[in-house]
Amino acid sequence: MQQADFQLIIIGGGPAGLTAGMYAARGRLKALLLEKGATGGQVLVTDWVDNYPGFAEGITGFELMDKMTAHADRFGLEKKFATVDSLDLVDDIKTIHLDNGDRLTSRTVILCTGAKPRKIQVPGEEELQGKGVSYCATCDGPFYRDQEIAVVGGGNTAIQEALHLTKFAAKVTVIHRRDELRATKILQEKAFAEDKIDFLWNARVSEIVGGTGGVESLNISYNDGSTSSLPVTGIFILIGVVPNNEVLPLDQLETDNYGFIITDDEMCTKLPGVFAAGDIRSKNFRQIINAAGEGATAELSAEHYLGNQV
Ligand code: NAP
Repeated sequence: MQQADFQLIIIGGGPAGLTAGMYAARGRLKALLLEKGATGGQVLVTDWVDNYPGFAEGITGFELMDKMTAHADRFGLEKKFATVDSLDLVDDIKTIHLDNGDRLTSRTVILCTGAKPRKIQVPGEEELQGKGVSYCATCDGPFYRDQEIAVVGGGNTAIQEALHLTKFAAKVTVIHRRDELRATKILQEKAFAEDKIDFLWNARVSEIVGGTGGVESLNISYNDGSTSSLPVTGIFILIGVVPNNEVLPLDQLETDNYGFIITDDEMCTKLPGVFAAGDIRSKNFRQIINAAGEGATAELSAEHYLGNQV
């Protein structure tokens, strides 16, 4: 059988990748986790995690990911901080090209590249990013102490982060394109009971207007055709995610209409020896607990595949 550098390479160090890595290290596979930034993924910038089993009092996203990293480290998971440039996943030996020119080979690969915030794609959004336009309430909330700000979206992220932003802002206006929220009922109840949160229903931001100091106001269009202007100094756009699939060989994999990778229940992609787990997978629910569970399943599937190859 052809030799490869590793039995398993995991790409991405969020909850899915770290769990797969922890299982692989504990299972004594020759495994490597590749991560371009810090391990932890999107959860690192999540203010508070209230629904991860075992943490009855809740835990910050940062702390939870610190613990997951430490858990994988305890079993000696090998990690490399590097950016993947491209992958060739078709042959029995998979090849991973890094942007520094290095090339790694592995018998199996688990893709855990995750997802990133979706944009509203209106005038002003790109130009004013970092000057009042944000996609991360935990990162940027403290800049808006006693100011009036807006949150776009009606899902769990938007409502959870709108509640978080009330710790800083004088007023938070949630702008949602329908007349009811998608967020879970418990978050809705908290948001409706919060005096600092107002709602604009059936409304979309059509333009983010800035001046020399950054964002100054939002132009709003309502579904009935009317318009208004909302003076704010910050806008948090929290309307879901798009896949981090830029370096993935999409011609070799099967994806859904949005570019998320399709797998079976065992996390197998259509390519033998290639698995996917976490937010990069095509699915309805993107929770930390799902990502971790899928990471475990993907690693066990990789072990099973390797066992059958011997
Ligand atoms: P989401 O559930 O997909 O919600 C996206 C929200 O943005 C929806 O309200 C949607 O409106 C709106 N939206 C989408 N595109 C838009 C556009 N172009 N313009 C204006 N509004 C737009 O995304 P999410 O809230 O980021 O959550 C992602 C996943 O993480 C979900 O599975 C969620 O349950 C999970 N999550 C869980 C927790 C928790 O359990 N505490 C916390 C955060 C996230 P419509 O409602 O009209 O479609």
